[in-house]
Amino acid sequence: MTTEEIISLSALELGKAIKEGKTSSVEACHAYLSRIDDRDGLYNSYITVLTEEALKRAAQVDADISAGRLTGPLAGVPIAVKDNICTKGVLTTCGSKMLSNFVPPYDATVVKKIEEAGMVILGKVNMDEFAMGSTTETSFYGPTVNPHGVNRVPGGSSGGSAAAVAAELAPIALGSDTGGSIRQPSSFCGVTGLKPTYGSVSRYGLVAFASSLDQIGPIAKNAEDAAALYNIICGADPKDQSSSEEAAPVDMSALENFSLKGKKIGLPEEYFGDGIDPEVREKVTAAIEVLKDLGAEVEKFSFPIAEYAIPTYYIIACAEACSNLSRYDGIKYGYRPEGDIDLTQLYIKSRSEGFGLEVKRRIMLGNFVLSSGYYDAYYNKALQAKNLIKQSFDKAFEKYDIIAGPVAPTPALKAGESLSDPLKMYLGDICTVLINIAGLPAISVPCGEAGEEKLPVGLQLIGKPFDEANVLGFASAYQKNQ
Ligand code: GLN
Repeated sequence: MTTEEIISLSALELGKAIKEGKTSSVEACHAYLSRIDDRDGLYNSYITVLTEEALKRAAQVDADISAGRLTGPLAGVPIAVKDNICTKGVLTTCGSKMLSNFVPPYDATVVKKIEEAGMVILGKVNMDEFAMGSTTETSFYGPTVNPHGVNRVPGGSSGGSAAAVAAELAPIALGSDTGGSIRQPSSFCGVTGLKPTYGSVSRYGLVAFASSLDQIGPIAKNAEDAAALYNIICGADPKDQSSSEEAAPVDMSALENFSLKGKKIGLPEEYFGDGIDPEVREKVTAAIEVLKDLGAEVEKFSFPIAEYAIPTYYIIACAEACSNLSRYDGIKYGYRPEGDIDLTQLYIKSRSEGFGLEVKRRIMLGNFVLSSGYYDAYYNKALQAKNLIKQSFDKAFEKYDIIAGPVAPTPALKAGESLSDPLKMYLGDICTVLINIAGLPAISVPCGEAGEEKLPVGLQLIGKPFDEANVLGFASAYQKNQ
């Protein structure tokens, strides 16, 4: 097959073509690696490209496929992995100077699983530093560019993963989502991104940002591909106490024949209000009409708790982040300044020089909300709000199978815009963070283009805990009938 033919295939189609001998894993890796070589100078989606390692592994995988030792649907398919997911012997920077020399001695559970399934890692992709941000501009390795517009951000923090799939520099990728970091870049780059239920995918080997919110998930060309990768990575893991036995793979044939008849969709009024760009609202509303035509019942409902989304998220996320990031002290691993300095200076200099501005801002915010004078006023209040948010979703899901709305209030922002105004960037997370607070599964599906630049818009479909089957089913039905 030619490079053009290979890159035009979805991940599942590519897996099938490899199995049928129409192409091979080595040929597929060659195709993607040469495109990365040609084009990633413009996008900067990769931090590390594993050219030799990928080709060597692909040859082994081809042999295992021929011998019948590897039979899964994505065997032989190349993949890009976000750079906060540990890969044994391969640099894992988290987009930070602090980890610019960190080579993990172990694999994350998801990495083990994708390798056991015969997938081949092309490289590690760019991200906001420590996954803090919405634009992939806070990376120590420079910003990633949105393939839909060179002066537009790809979203974040998994901007490298989304841009790589959108620019066809990988057929599929892994990202992580703490407050929207899979869904929002998927929306900005016009690809499909699934944030699984909290506990359905092991976090072992994911560099922690906010442990009660972080979740790894797929970024793909369509919902079927996302489902196939989700099926590989999901499941309880003895190495992650928060992973759950309830997590189960999605039945792929049920997904193909998914019917919306008799299903109910709830639309929170607050997700369609004044803060939402009119063109985004229009595209999302049109997508919901398609779901209606497919037999779903649609109803608006009031979801006033949405008002507390941003403060609750930023208090909890920063509190957990400042605690998680306290391990970077220049002693155990990571960046350490040169020179003959005493211990206190070593701590201070390592952290001052190793972390970027946004990370420092969050560490300070986190320490503030956890300090004895403010703990009750901020952190405890946020925990109370978290309970109310969960209860509000539970109540809504008594009535609805799916809750739908936009992923982000706007299409991709201009480069540089939000670096100067962090509050504006935080407010852009209004539609995604509630889902992490409640631990729910949600997907971002491309649903049209906005403005003269034709920037992608994303529809968000939110499901009940461990109901990935419904979330993916709605998404796939929409994509087939769009
Ligand atoms: N944009 C959000 C933040 O900056 C979400 C990040 C994420 O999901 N990792 O915290």
